[in-house]
Amino acid sequence: MTVSVTGATGFIGTRLVQRLHADNHKVCVLTRSKSKAETIFPVKNFPGIVIAEEAGWKDCIEGSNAVVNLAGMPISTRWSPEIKKEIKESRIRVTSKVVDLINSSPQGVRPTVLVSATAVGYYGSGTSETRVFDENSPSGNDYLAEVCREWEGTALKVDKDVRLALIRIGVVLGKDGGALAKMIPLFMMFAGGPLGSGQQWFSWIHLDDIVNLIYEALSNPSYKGVINGTAPNPVRLSEMCNQLGNVLGRPSWLPVPDFALKAVLGEGASVVLEGQKVVPAKAKELGFPFKYPYVKDALKSILS
Ligand code: NDP
Repeated sequence: MTVSVTGATGFIGTRLVQRLHADNHKVCVLTRSKSKAETIFPVKNFPGIVIAEEAGWKDCIEGSNAVVNLAGMPISTRWSPEIKKEIKESRIRVTSKVVDLINSSPQGVRPTVLVSATAVGYYGSGTSETRVFDENSPSGNDYLAEVCREWEGTALKVDKDVRLALIRIGVVLGKDGGALAKMIPLFMMFAGGPLGSGQQWFSWIHLDDIVNLIYEALSNPSYKGVINGTAPNPVRLSEMCNQLGNVLGRPSWLPVPDFALKAVLGEGASVVLEGQKVVPAKAKELGFPFKYPYVKDALKSILS
């Protein structure tokens, strides 16, 4: 299979491309910066990989069986009005371009699958400590919910004969990146207690599982529509911090203050401090085999 990937140079995309390449699929990396992509995917380790800046996206997409769309400006920054605008517009811009290129590809050579990222932020932050959100739950009212609705709405413009899987991703836990890489130094500094009240929900997923879910969605026709990309056992933040403390061999008694987390994650800290309990109802119904259903095992695999 030939797969074009936007956001391929990011935390999730890099691992996905490695996996696709290792399994002998042909990969087109759709990027804003060829030189950056070439350092991540050097030709000696990734022979045959195609790296294309925007002018080359059309040819790549036309020759692909499937497209994975992961691009977007990171949200864990300080949110000035300009940055908020770019967080939303980067996602709409890239998704819109991908959808236009798929829709205008000639029949017969066009991709038949689009797997497009979105986020559990769709359900709204800080909404409830007791509610459980599945794929049928309504969207929230805050800024990130609005971003996700528009992002998904743009992907939904792909022609109906293209199978669309919208993956609402939770907080991805993996080595050397994502929220965990930023949280750990802070956690070590404060000896690692709960963040904020600790009662808020943390809907997480291991990097291997989100990559496997996207990978499966590429070839399995049952993977369509909205699919929550979260582990089956979300935890309260206090539990997450306890487990993190255990794995790191640190006591978990001093609370990490909200301001410290906001200092490293910016307003993007809201996804950690004001989370929601999201369950992967669709993935479970599809029988997706989660490698890391429990946060303790996920953290052990990442940190030990
Ligand atoms: P990263 O931030 O690691 O990478 C995203 C990629 O998007 C970058 O490598 C870059 O690719 C591209 N990009 C960055 N800024 C812009 C911009 N201003 N305009 C256009 N493209 C840009 O993301 P992740 O791998 O962590 O996540 C992938 C997707 O999944 C993202 O859209 C994210 O919102 C979503 N998601 C991730 C979660 C997580 O915990 N990691 C949780 C929920 C959702 P290049 O420079 O090659 O163009």
